[in-house]
Amino acid sequence: MTTSEIAPLANVPERFTVAIDGPAAAGKSTVADLVAQALDAVVFDTGILYRAVTLLAVEAGIEPDNETTLASIAASIDVDVRPPSMPDGRKLDVYLRGRDVTWELRSPEVDRLLSPIAALPKVRMALLEPQRRIGRSGRVVVVGRDIGTVVLPDADLKIFLMASPNERARRRHEEMISAGKEQPFDAVVEALTRRDKIDSERALSPLTPAADALVIDSDGTPASEVARRIVAEFEKTHEAGSASDD
Ligand code: C5P
Repeated sequence: MTTSEIAPLANVPERFTVAIDGPAAAGKSTVADLVAQALDAVVFDTGILYRAVTLLAVEAGIEPDNETTLASIAASIDVDVRPPSMPDGRKLDVYLRGRDVTWELRSPEVDRLLSPIAALPKVRMALLEPQRRIGRSGRVVVVGRDIGTVVLPDADLKIFLMASPNERARRRHEEMISAGKEQPFDAVVEALTRRDKIDSERALSPLTPAADALVIDSDGTPASEVARRIVAEFEKTHEAGSASDD
């Protein structure tokens, strides 16, 4: 099944936000790309911001217990996303302070410290406004953990994408192999489980579906099918919204 099989939606509004939250490797980015394509929107992956803060922390040897320093790093984070410059499995180039950090953001050291750093309230607060500004800047599909609950509770459509731990580990393992960065399968399972646990149990903005989110289990369903369902749901919501505006 190819991406072009999702028909672009006609008469898409000038401005809207679709929030796609869910655990690691649930397929959010793939689905978000397809949805954005059909809605003529851009994708904003908020995980990149948390990864960028964590990379700078790893490089400077700053531990998660140094919340104030990490919050000031978060407050001045300068990330730039560009189309992919080389065919090495990347979907985008990510620049941090002018440096290509696309793969560094996905390193095991960054993965290990990500969730403890993302659990820090001051770090989350520092990243809130930039996320809101970008999320409300036009036609945007925003991917994250707390978009529908905290960052953009007024999003036009909220999706919570699930998949079983086994399926998610399998997908992440395959992604790593195709990017030439293979790790043992057990290590992938362990890292995902650990990250989900911290993300779900943190005090501020834990990973949980918004009350008004559409929860989709993607196990055994191709990404294109999940995306089609989201686009159909968006169409329904938009039609309902335009009817009530009359
Ligand atoms: O989506 P990705 O796996 O790149 O996210 C990396 C980490 O960043 C997550 O495990 C989570 O700890 C954190 N994150 C978050 N809130 C978001 C996006 C990401 O806490 N909106």
